[in-house]
Amino acid sequence: MLPLMDSMAQNLARLQERIARAAQRVGREPEKIGLVAVSKTVDAPRVRAAHAAGLRVFGENRAQELRDKSRELSDLSLEWHFVGSIQTNKVRYIVPTAELVHSVDRLAVARRISQRASAERPQRLLVQVNTSGEESKSGVQPDALDALLEGLAELPHLRVEGLMTIGPLTDDQRAIGSAFRLLRRLRDRARDAQHPRMPLQHLSMGMTHDFELAIAEGATLLRIGTAIFGRREA
Ligand SMILES: *Cc1c(COP(=O)(O)O)cnc(C)c1O
Repeated sequence: MLPLMDSMAQNLARLQERIARAAQRVGREPEKIGLVAVSKTVDAPRVRAAHAAGLRVFGENRAQELRDKSRELSDLSLEWHFVGSIQTNKVRYIVPTAELVHSVDRLAVARRISQRASAERPQRLLVQVNTSGEESKSGVQPDALDALLEGLAELPHLRVEGLMTIGPLTDDQRAIGSAFRLLRRLRDRARDAQHPRMPLQHLSMGMTHDFELAIAEGATLLRIGTAIFGRREA
């Protein structure tokens, strides 16, 4: 257990240092940038060690894994987020366990989420946008975002807190930067439309290989796995 904690604590300290430096470079306050530790494929004891190292917010991308791990770690006070693609028949594993769902990209899924949430406990969520045009990526297309947001505005038990994207799979820093900038522009425009129950304060973007660019483009939530937990086997 100890060596495991040591390397995780070291990874985390290094990461927090990089986040702080990236924020300072663009005149942002590092405290306003949230860190979601993406713990997919990481077993419960290692998540426990991450909690001991100071992390509180964890992200999962598979509904059953979220359910199982959150049960196994229910003695800790953790905040779970869901970042993976959502099948309507798995929504029951996600709501109400996930405090924030990053990856809503269709009205059918949103409807199911709203049904399972309640007026007392509306589900907080982000809309995932495909900003790279890569066909393999989930996310609503930018030109279909307005229609989706209008649909979401009709659903009673949702709080739409922002947008999420996955950067393009490339080393081309300019392409990655433009994808993040596009997300920010879409968010700003949607916020101007002032839909009810849509504060749209969050931009969830930036992973291990591109979080510094995301910070420069205004990310408020980073989703980081590898830089904390090391390389995943699968
Ligand atoms: C796996 C995953 C991450 C974290 O990726 P790393 O490269 O390991 O930091 C972030 N977001 C989503 C949606 C993921 O599936």
